[in-house]
Amino acid sequence: MIEIDRITKVYNGAPAVDAVSMTAESGTITVIVGTSGSGKTTLLRMINRLEEPTSGEVRINGESTLSTKPHLLRRRIGYVIQGHGLFPHHTVARNIGAVPRLLNWPKDKIRARVDELLTLFSMEPEQFRDRFPAELSGGQQQRVGVARALASRPDLLLMDEPFGALDPIIRARAQDDLRQIQRALGSTIMLVTHDMEEAIRLGDRVAVMDEGSLVQHGSPAEIVARPASPFVADMVGGMERPLRLLSLVPLSEVVEDGDAPGDALPEDCSLRDALSACLWTGRTAVPVEREGALIGRVTLEAIRARAELSA
Ligand code: ADP
Ligand code: MG
Repeated sequence: MIEIDRITKVYNGAPAVDAVSMTAESGTITVIVGTSGSGKTTLLRMINRLEEPTSGEVRINGESTLSTKPHLLRRRIGYVIQGHGLFPHHTVARNIGAVPRLLNWPKDKIRARVDELLTLFSMEPEQFRDRFPAELSGGQQQRVGVARALASRPDLLLMDEPFGALDPIIRARAQDDLRQIQRALGSTIMLVTHDMEEAIRLGDRVAVMDEGSLVQHGSPAEIVARPASPFVADMVGGMERPLRLLSLVPLSEVVEDGDAPGDALPEDCSLRDALSACLWTGRTAVPVEREGALIGRVTLEAIRARAELSA
């Protein structure tokens, strides 16, 4: 468990992060979302002590990060930034094995871990372990960057706008991969983004920052359904478009277990309401009605795609 306890950073008399408190359960993804300058990077860098807090503290599994030397702490906390940050003159295997080597893992254990991670990231070890970063695509470099950060089984993985440099199609794929790998490994992740859509897609919990303060912390469904302030509502913005703009799929085409009588969405509700209905009930599609008659189903995928386009 990660506990952030009234952590504050003051630069030149002004707080960049102002008494932020939140708790993240082990094995979950928390996405910290906010506009540029809201203090997201500063918050993340105080967790691994790349920045020292002005006040407040962070505890990992009950232990204050202040009780460990920063360079040792950072071996237990993976850190991924925009762009992959790989060592260009080291092979993929050497890049991924960097922290395990520092921790003096035996060679065969490092090699096994490298191959395990490459396989998990759908990169055939035989084919990729001896390549250099320049011999990989952008998406592959990004995956190796994440694999490297996960190699020593860190207590926590911090990711600062990790997908910012990827084009939108690869980006969606990278988000799905991360989600799947996080589930497979049970990793605890804190990820920073300015993109609310990414936050909703990836987060078990979403933390919204505005001008250094945490303005809302909750599940994606809560953020979407009950934004705590006009600022949060604005970030969820594109979602206010009417559902009727989306094409529906025939009722027979998507079968959902969770349908209950009377839970159809009116055609004139917003994308936000539709997304909220899906997320609350854990369904990937919900029925839509017009004047009391079911006219089709809207899919979670279609709602997300449209909200992204209009953002
Ligand atoms: P975000 O990652 O959300 O864009 P940052 O955490 O980078 O925001 O920055 C938050 C605020 O703190 C900004 O106003 C920024 O100018 C200021 N800031 C960040 N780092 C420093 C620093 N090293 N010295 C002075 N001000 C800083
Ligand atoms: Mg930043």
